[in-house]
Amino acid sequence: MKEILYKSTRSDSLPVPASKAILMGLAKDGGLFVPTDFPSLDKSLSDLAGMDYRGVAYEVMKLMLTDFTEDELKNCIKNAYGDNFDDKEIVPVRKADGAYFLELFHGPTIAFKDMALQILPHLLTTSARKNAEQKEIVILTATSGDTGKAAMAGFADVAGTRIMVFYPKDGVSSIQERQMVTQKGDNTCVVGIRGNFDDAQSEVKKIFGDTALREEMAEKGFAFSSANSINIGRLVPQIVYYVFAYTRLLKEGVIKEGDKINIVVPTGNFGNILAAYYGMKMGLPVGKLICASNSNKVLFDFFTTGTYDRNREFILTSSPSMDILISSNLERLIYHISGDSSEKTAALMKDLGKKGVYCITDEMKEGLSDFAGGYATEENTAEAIRKLYKEEGYVIDPHTAVAAFVYDDYRRQTGDKTPAVIASTASPFKFENSVMRALGEPADLPDLELADRLSDKAGVPVPEAVNVLRTAEIRHNIVCDRQGMKAEVRKFLEM
Ligand SMILES: *Cc1c(COP(=O)(O)O)cnc(C)c1O
Repeated sequence: MKEILYKSTRSDSLPVPASKAILMGLAKDGGLFVPTDFPSLDKSLSDLAGMDYRGVAYEVMKLMLTDFTEDELKNCIKNAYGDNFDDKEIVPVRKADGAYFLELFHGPTIAFKDMALQILPHLLTTSARKNAEQKEIVILTATSGDTGKAAMAGFADVAGTRIMVFYPKDGVSSIQERQMVTQKGDNTCVVGIRGNFDDAQSEVKKIFGDTALREEMAEKGFAFSSANSINIGRLVPQIVYYVFAYTRLLKEGVIKEGDKINIVVPTGNFGNILAAYYGMKMGLPVGKLICASNSNKVLFDFFTTGTYDRNREFILTSSPSMDILISSNLERLIYHISGDSSEKTAALMKDLGKKGVYCITDEMKEGLSDFAGGYATEENTAEAIRKLYKEEGYVIDPHTAVAAFVYDDYRRQTGDKTPAVIASTASPFKFENSVMRALGEPADLPDLELADRLSDKAGVPVPEAVNVLRTAEIRHNIVCDRQGMKAEVRKFLEM
């Protein structure tokens, strides 16, 4: 098997094995780790169609995490994908309105982040063992709402780790906030920020890059790592479900082996759609990758003009996990379409840091031809929720609705009839307020009463993840400004 190493997007320092990249999270120069090469799937798609989720996960991940032994990787997979999911398929595929909804929300926190964050702690502790890392691993995570809870659910009480989560105090849904502030586990800490997600993410990146702090921490026996999608250990598990989706369509006879599928992804930080792109690079037959944005449509503008411009108003929408103006993972795509040039990538990222804007060359623009971009306004989003409910009795969450609208629009404009998989990224119960409002139902009710009403309306039971909130005790109440984040980190580590 071809050995895959990882290097920074911003310089040409020595490539490192996967386990090392997972431990480090971010490269020392502030760049993101990218594979130096893409492996090809070494089992046929019809062979993979005969496997369950764990089987497909092993076949995909072994190609990218080549310094893990078979036992190590299979153990991680077994521990991550089992009874903690409320559907035995792990990710069921549901046909509605001529598309295939890949339901990625059956894990413990009912958003797609579980797909990677249920396995990341296992990958990380395995990586620590492999690299004889003795220090306690401190996970710092900025969240737009879903990552934080999913990361804590994965890392709570995992020996040798601590986890700290920063979320925008007024930028998450009521259920999301309740899920986070009730998090159990002695090694967890949750902090609300008076600011938005970009503030939280930028400050976390800054703290990561603080060499003096790092040294002081190392003396005290701590090492930072990241559970954000900048960590390659999150990206790799996300490739799996796109391959899995393909094999399920194959199994059901929707496609023949080798036929292309389109993939539609509601996008914020560009992690989920990048995983689909990596799957395509590994040989998954994909026609178009359709990147769906909400009103914060930086990515739509980028795909249509080649200019990335974050200088604009930050809009709070009903799909808060996509309320992002700096899509971190786009840096990886930039690197690949620049012909793996760390020099060009570093220069563009410098522009972004300084001016908040960068422009790619015409040559690089050609690399974007695998993608199509679209966006949905708040009204479009609500309309998509209503339409799927009315026509199919299927209730989707606002993030998925952004994708559903964009896909409809894409189909109308292009006439492209390629079968499409829509990444369904959250359970409607996580965003029940916006969903009920879109359906024309009363929404100003206590969270848990609203959940019961949604359950009646949708004809599906209230997920366990919401039921436990009925009695969960509030354990976290820290709020600070962006400037106060570093001090909170020191307090949590008793430094
Ligand atoms: C995080 C998230 C997204 C955006 O995913 P990215 O990988 O950041 O593009 C979309 N929907 C939901 C529900 C999410 O939690």
